[in-house]
Amino acid sequence: MNFKVPRGTQDILPSESWKWQRAEAIIKNVCDVYRYKEIRTPIFEQTDLFQRLVGETTDVVQKEMYTFTDRGDRSMTLRPEGTAPVVRSYVEHKMFGYPDQPVKLFYTGPMFRYERQQAGRYRQFVQFGIEAIGSNDPAIDAEVIALAMDVYKKAGLTKLKLVINSLGDTECRRTHKEALIEHFKPHIDEFCSDCKDRLEKNPLRILDCKVDGDHPLIKSAPSLADYLNEESAAYFKEVTSYLEDMDIPYEIDANLVRGLDYYNHTAFEIMSTSEGFGAITTLCGGGRYNGLAEDIGGPSAPGIGFAMSIERLLLAMEAEEVSFEAEPDIDVYVVTLGDEAKRLGVKILGQLRASGIRADIDYTGRKMKAQMKSADRLKAKNVLVIGEEEVAKQVVVLRNMADRQQEEISTTELIQVVADRLTKEGR
Ligand code: ATP
Ligand code: MG
Repeated sequence: MNFKVPRGTQDILPSESWKWQRAEAIIKNVCDVYRYKEIRTPIFEQTDLFQRLVGETTDVVQKEMYTFTDRGDRSMTLRPEGTAPVVRSYVEHKMFGYPDQPVKLFYTGPMFRYERQQAGRYRQFVQFGIEAIGSNDPAIDAEVIALAMDVYKKAGLTKLKLVINSLGDTECRRTHKEALIEHFKPHIDEFCSDCKDRLEKNPLRILDCKVDGDHPLIKSAPSLADYLNEESAAYFKEVTSYLEDMDIPYEIDANLVRGLDYYNHTAFEIMSTSEGFGAITTLCGGGRYNGLAEDIGGPSAPGIGFAMSIERLLLAMEAEEVSFEAEPDIDVYVVTLGDEAKRLGVKILGQLRASGIRADIDYTGRKMKAQMKSADRLKAKNVLVIGEEEVAKQVVVLRNMADRQQEEISTTELIQVVADRLTKEGR
C-alpha cells in the first residue's frame, strides 16, 4: 500500500516547522502590540453559516467547500475562512455588550477549500486573520491595514504593495449593481456559465472572475468609484488620509473586489512585488463588513478584518530571499564511553533538562567519534564528555564548541557552570 498526503495538503517537517513557529511568534507579538486577543473557534461549523455570510454566488461557497453530513444528519462544513465563525462567536457570546468596543480579535489555524493545487494555493492552508468588530471609525480601518503591513515588515519583506478600494455602502452598491447588469447583459453570452449566473444575483462577482478576467468588458465596466455617494467617498478619504499619516503607501484600484460577498466600504489587498514570486501575488486580503453581525441575527456591529496565509508569507520570504535566522537548538550534547559513563550521562541529562537546559544524548549505541559528529551536526554549543576515568573521579569534561576549550568540572557543580555560561551568552 502506498499512502500519500491528500492532494493540496502538505506535511510540515521539522526542517520547515521552525519557520512556521517564527512566523507565528511575529504574529502573536504584533497582535499583542496592537492589543488584539486570540480567539479559537471550531474547525467546522453549520454549512448555512458560510452560505449566508460568505455568499451563495462566491467561488468559495459554490465550488470550494468541504461539506459533509454528520451522523445526526446535519450539514457541516470545514471552515473555508475565519470571519464568519468569528462573527458568529461575537454574536453568540454577546461581545457587543463588552464595555470596550471595538472587540479586537485574532486567529490562526487551518482553513479548507477545494481548490486546484498550485504554488501558493492549497486545500488545507493556515490563515492568520484579525477582526475589529464594533466600530465605524475610519482610523480602525487604517489600524487593521497597518497591522498586516507590520507583520510582513517584521518578517523582513520589503517588496510589498498595498492596494485599496471602497465598495461603498448598500445604496451605492445598488445603483452600481444596476449599471453593471446593464453593462454586461448584452454580451453575457461571451462569459462563462458562472458569470451568467452571477449577472442578476451578484454582477460585482463578474469583475473577480478567474475565467473571464481578461475580457475587455471587465476593464470598461462601470467603476464603483463613480457610484460612491458623498458619505462613502468621505469615509474612504479619511481612511486614506490616516494611511498617509502613518506613512503607509497605497494604490487605489477601483476594480478591486474581494472574493467574499460580505465586504462594504474599505477593501484592500497586500501583494508581493518580488520578481521571484509566482502567478499568485496576493498575500493578504481584507475589508469592512458592516452588515455581517445583523445578517445572523445580531445587532448592528460594524467590523473590519483581514486574512493572510502563512504559506504565502513564507513563499514571499523565499521570493525575496529573506529568511529567519536559524538558531542552534541544543545547548549541551552528552557524549559517553562505556556503560557506567552512559548511566552517569543519562542522570546528568535529566538534571540539565530539569534546569531548562536543552540537552540530548545518543540512543543508538554509536562510538564516541560518531557521537561527536552528531554534536557537530546539531550545532551543540557545549559537549559533555564522560568516560571511565571521569566516572571514577565523578567529574565531566565540558567542551565549548565555539573555541574548543575544555575543562574538567565536578558533577556537583556542573549544572551551575553550564547555566552561568548560557546566561552569559544571552540565552
Ligand atoms: P485568491 O484570489 O488568491 O483565491 P481569495 O480572495 O480566495 O484569494 P481570501 O479568501 O481573501 O482569498 O483569503 C485571504 C488570504 O488567504 C489570501 O490573500 C491568501 O493569502 C490566503 N489564501 C486564500 N486561499 C488560499 C489557498 N487556497 N492556499 C493558500 N493560501 C490561501
Ligand atoms: Mg480563492
